[in-house]
Amino acid sequence: MNDFGRARADLVDDLVRDGHLRSAPVRAAFLAVPRERFVTEDLHRKAYVDTPLPIPMGQTISAPSMIAIMLEEAELAEGQKVLDVGTGSGYNAALLAAIVGGANVVSIERHAGLVDFARQNLAAAEIAGVRLVVGDGTLGYEPLAPYDRIVVTAGAPRIAKSWVRQTRMGGLIVAPVGRSTFSQVLVVARRTGEDRVEARESTPCAFVPLVGREGW
Ligand code: SAH
Repeated sequence: MNDFGRARADLVDDLVRDGHLRSAPVRAAFLAVPRERFVTEDLHRKAYVDTPLPIPMGQTISAPSMIAIMLEEAELAEGQKVLDVGTGSGYNAALLAAIVGGANVVSIERHAGLVDFARQNLAAAEIAGVRLVVGDGTLGYEPLAPYDRIVVTAGAPRIAKSWVRQTRMGGLIVAPVGRSTFSQVLVVARRTGEDRVEARESTPCAFVPLVGREGW
């Protein structure tokens, strides 16, 4: 095991001990995906600190504990089709790919420059099959809908109508929702009807704003 591998295993131990990593598939994904590949080289030494880190275009890769909480709340299983809103570095998409299979992950990002960044990072991490789309994820991504899960990693003013319509009946949407653009609560919403969800609040969080038609 190299130094990154050791640091990764130590971080996973911490996340298990603190109760953030609870299921075998999410834990295995955190052990499998090299987070150092999803940050710029100057930040490599911080890749396994449990903190958000800056990525290009003024965005951030979320703290590992926050991503662990989200992925556990999403109740993921192999073979589910997942829409990842806010590709950023591609790290969350990589973890999703490790759990549900690369070909089942669609990831949408509004900045074309970040889609390029994520594409390079996924290739460097040897994760294949993830579909990357440049576009406004507040509208979901209709061409490949419906999804079993929609996971959003930018702060939204509300659960967008498009997400509900593009989630399979009984499927889950996990998104940071809040009145302020830098302070939200993680909402877990299960689709129960045409335009209906049953939503519950999980944990407070702070994501960068979701900018778009149904966003800020
Ligand atoms: N999941 C990412 C981090 C997300 S940061 C990772 O693992 O690195 C939030 C991202 O959401 C930013 O890259 C931002 O550009 C993007 N974003 C904001 N509004 C968006 C929108 N309407 N559609 C798609 N992406 C959006």
